[in-house]
Amino acid sequence: MVLDSSALIAGLDPLALGEEYEVYTTPSVLAEVALSGDCRTRLSLAVELGKAVVAKPSAESLRAVESESAKTGDLSVLSPTDLEVLALAHQLRNGCEVVVVTDDFAIQNVAASLGLRAASLMTLGISRRFSWELFCPGCEKALPPSYRGRRCPICGTVLRRRRRA
Ligand SMILES: [Zn+2]
Repeated sequence: MVLDSSALIAGLDPLALGEEYEVYTTPSVLAEVALSGDCRTRLSLAVELGKAVVAKPSAESLRAVESESAKTGDLSVLSPTDLEVLALAHQLRNGCEVVVVTDDFAIQNVAASLGLRAASLMTLGISRRFSWELFCPGCEKALPPSYRGRRCPICGTVLRRRRRA
């Protein structure tokens, strides 16, 4: 299981995941969640107890993910952290099933295109601690979380989630 920032910020606790899962995340996710005190504590504890591993993907895997997300049209909305998460998942997939845990549509989209499984917190049965809204990184339009489409109804850009203020 490879966790992105949205999963950790939404309240996923690596220690609450079953024994059957090996949990990974990347250095830039760690840096992003460090801004939120209790996320940082949960992740550090999981790393200390050997439940989670923080690993950096290879440059080769990053390049493969960049080229795949350029093909799907998601490259412009993915942050360097998002690409790192996808690259780590891509790299870990040697003979085992990798699940990318994210609430982000663009990451889910590229994961699927790479042949990786993606799961949202809802899929995993984990409730969110915060409410989210959808927004368009292209034209900045905000949409209610109940909106069903994956793309902006105005400009067609893949929507992203953000924590509601
Ligand atoms: Zn838009």
